[in-house]
Amino acid sequence: MKRRALVVAVAVAAILLVLFVLAVPLIRQARRGAQRNVCLVHLRQITGAKASWAMAENQPADAMPSWADLDPYFYGGTNAMVCPLDPNGSCVTSYEIGRLGRLPRCKIMPHEHAFPKRARVVGMLIVVDEEE
Ligand SMILES: [Zn+2]
Repeated sequence: MKRRALVVAVAVAAILLVLFVLAVPLIRQARRGAQRNVCLVHLRQITGAKASWAMAENQPADAMPSWADLDPYFYGGTNAMVCPLDPNGSCVTSYEIGRLGRLPRCKIMPHEHAFPKRARVVGMLIVVDEEE
């Protein structure tokens, strides 16, 4: 009887181990995707703040805003504008604002936290052209 209980316990432990080993990469992948999405939302918000600032301040098309210029255009200021992979950083360490009409850039993961290469800024929007 005790031997049978031991066999069942070992089988259950083996099944749990297999499930755990299968789940870990999926959880990591989901976490990376979520972090990327948060960063892309920040990049969209920076693009919108740049356009709002340009309209409010009547700026030329190639003007270069600073974080202080954009601060009033973020709900809660620029403090929330931090890449999820830069938890102790700030907007300055996380993002490069860029000129008007240019996409802002994540400094932490510039290749993974980026819009497709064919993305461009149109006013307050980020437009991604269809692939041909
Ligand atoms: Zn990022």
